[in-house]
Amino acid sequence: DFGEMRLNSSGTNLHIQSETEPFMNQVKHYLDNQWHAKPIIDGQEFTSEEEQVICPYDHSHTVGTVHKATEEQALKALDVAHQNFIGWDVTPVQQRSALLDKVADTLESHKHELIALCSRDGGKSIQDGIDEVREAIDFCRYYAYNARNQFGHEIHLPGPTGESNDLYLQGRGVFACISPWNFPLAIFIGQVAAALVAGNTVIAKPADQTTLVAYRAVQLMHEAGIPTSVLQFVPIRGSVLGKVILSDNRIGGVAFTGSTSTAHTINRTLASRDAMLSPLIAETGGQNAMIVDSSALPEQVVEDVIHSAFTSAGQRCSALRVLYLQEEIADKIIEVLSGAMQELRLGNPTDLSTDVGPVIDMAAREELQEHIDELKAAGKLIAETPMPEGLEGHGSFLSPVAFEINHINDLEQEWFGPIVHIVRYKAKDLDKVIDQINNYGFGLTLGVHSRNESTALYIDKRARVGNVYINRNMIGATVGVQPFGGQGLSGTGPKAGGPFYLYRFATEHTRTNNT
Ligand code: NAP
Repeated sequence: DFGEMRLNSSGTNLHIQSETEPFMNQVKHYLDNQWHAKPIIDGQEFTSEEEQVICPYDHSHTVGTVHKATEEQALKALDVAHQNFIGWDVTPVQQRSALLDKVADTLESHKHELIALCSRDGGKSIQDGIDEVREAIDFCRYYAYNARNQFGHEIHLPGPTGESNDLYLQGRGVFACISPWNFPLAIFIGQVAAALVAGNTVIAKPADQTTLVAYRAVQLMHEAGIPTSVLQFVPIRGSVLGKVILSDNRIGGVAFTGSTSTAHTINRTLASRDAMLSPLIAETGGQNAMIVDSSALPEQVVEDVIHSAFTSAGQRCSALRVLYLQEEIADKIIEVLSGAMQELRLGNPTDLSTDVGPVIDMAAREELQEHIDELKAAGKLIAETPMPEGLEGHGSFLSPVAFEINHINDLEQEWFGPIVHIVRYKAKDLDKVIDQINNYGFGLTLGVHSRNESTALYIDKRARVGNVYINRNMIGATVGVQPFGGQGLSGTGPKAGGPFYLYRFATEHTRTNNT
């Protein structure tokens, strides 16, 4: 039933078959659950003042409560993680990997609940929820497999007679894993799984908006056998974590996914310590473009634009933000795109006929709305999906919009929502377009639509981005298939779900033995 849902997804509309009904009934069974998140430190749960969690697509529905960690509890978590590091690091990697495989099994057996929780807490559609669970499972199995190969043996090096030289990988210490709300399960678990299997102990800090998903994930990881001494769950405000924990000399590394500005703040905090030179693994935002030349197929382009810009209400780091259209084809594509946007259905994300759900909260909605209002006032609007009657006010819904602008530099930041900006270009200016995109500074994803293979490959070679997608949509990287991560303002370059990812969480150790 898991695979069936994805096969039936056309990207903009789920075609429902009867097989999906039992699956959906099991997911629905959990939609009215109440979840309660608390800090988990050395296996013990703590309470503090309760905060109510409101569902992003139904503000009248309370999903559950969150108890935040205090500064003292966060420091206690750091003590526990620090004390247990060496013991965990010398645990055979086969054992650590086997535990990750068990986590994958446990996630799979709780998939219906997790999908429901991703919707209720994170405003995710059912398809997005399925993708989250699938990706989280993939991360666990993939990192378990890589760890066995990469950490499971020592490399014997040449040396003089009577001396043996061996190289192997060790964990770095306590890793702070800090995740965003837009992939509350997959990214949260991916970071934690990679850090743990590489031999580190972990302080897991979820995004404020999606603490319930992360709490349940940690509970399931512990249930699967990850020792409570090596995985600490610390739901605390990011700024407080930065001040109290990241500034501490015992932090051996930080895995961060979120905005570029937060990555800069964390970098400064780590640099200001007069202590370990700990690495920052940062996977951050994007101002992702798609270049469409006049040989492209308009219908395919529009389908891929809709999918890339509006899936998950545009709240994917890989999402399309700036669509470059060669002028010969621009009017045609804009016409088809405008028509397609009229047909998109905005609404409750657990309804399978919905194409676009809410943005994460009202604060995000207001920020995006300001940008939309500005561009509308400047006469830049091209198309807008109609808001169904009665929906506004029910949740943090925002209609997908398309604007025409002159230059990528007109955008002063990444707008993290269902907004696409169109720029026309002349064929002779292709190099300038590539330069503009590169010079903007982000380097996450780039889409190319061209039936001219040499043009597509020409662009690919020159683009300073982490992931290029040719003649398809530009979201939804698959673990082990499209290792994902950017460069420049988009991150320090690691590829989640790639063969080299675990090395970032490890340090190399050489032993010379005069036998
Ligand atoms: P964010 O505001 O930067 O927050 C990300 C995480 O950092 C949250 O857990 C946040 O905690 C924490 N944080 C905030 N200030 C901190 C500080 N001073 N020290 C330590 N941690 C701190 O990002 P977001 O709004 O959650 O996520 C959206 C962004 O993530 C977008 O820019 C998107 O492009 C990017 N993203 C990138 C990737 C990728 O793979 N490249 C993937 C997904 C998302 P609080 O919630 O408590 O503030």
